[in-house]
Amino acid sequence: MEMEDKTFKVTVLGCRGSVPVSGKSSLLFGGATSSYRVDAGDEIIYLDAGSGIYTDRPEEGKRVSILLSHWHIDHLVGLGMFLQKNKLKADIYGPAENDEKAAALLRKLYSAPFWPVEMEALGATVHALPEEMDIGDVKVLSREGSHPNGCRIIRLEYMGRSLVNATDFEAEDGAEKRLIELAKGADLILYDGQFKDGEAEKFKGFGHSTPGKGLEIKNKSKAKRLVIVHHGADRSDEDLLAMERELREKDANCWFARQGEELTDASD
Ligand SMILES: [Zn+2]
Ligand SMILES: [Zn+2]
Repeated sequence: MEMEDKTFKVTVLGCRGSVPVSGKSSLLFGGATSSYRVDAGDEIIYLDAGSGIYTDRPEEGKRVSILLSHWHIDHLVGLGMFLQKNKLKADIYGPAENDEKAAALLRKLYSAPFWPVEMEALGATVHALPEEMDIGDVKVLSREGSHPNGCRIIRLEYMGRSLVNATDFEAEDGAEKRLIELAKGADLILYDGQFKDGEAEKFKGFGHSTPGKGLEIKNKSKAKRLVIVHHGADRSDEDLLAMERELREKDANCWFARQGEELTDASD
């Protein structure tokens, strides 16, 4: 009898914010924009489809679902080429009132003159991302965060393990409460730490947050680990290492995401 695959693994495909970068100063943390691959048993679920998704190759025959936190280009730029290259029939979920509106949003980007291959030819099925759904044995919960044009915070649960993606998230009152609730007891929170501690006031309304606020939310939600994502496009590896050091002095169960890194569940 075949053993059931109970893997719950998160791979960082891209964790840069706003725009892909390259060159010597981003070799350690990587320059591809937001995309995380979650392997949960037989399911392959991508969180966002920034440039990082392009280099990944899902195994043939497996169902592929792509959950978009929002529609900003840095979270979408890898999608078209990824689908074309892999000839995938993926299910794409994004925040919208209904499936048709979600498809219409994606069609805006994947149509002339912005891209030569029309959305329909990409072969994906587009759905509105509901507040709650199941993908196989994976439970997906999503709530509104706080970000210009909107952004969802998303929780995945599988066989007692859990992950929360809180990218492009500004911690204003209501959203902070929703995130603490959503992240309750999570094994891992991916958290938007684009700004430095102390910069939050200066960048109010930009829709991003700080490592220090992430730590506060980790503690309030009693989550096990915090991984900072959406690194500022201008930050060098040295800048990010210094920010990471500061955070880890307060809590060693926190660090900054590195492209290519595998984050397995907290139990191992
Ligand atoms: Zn972004
Ligand atoms: Zn955004």
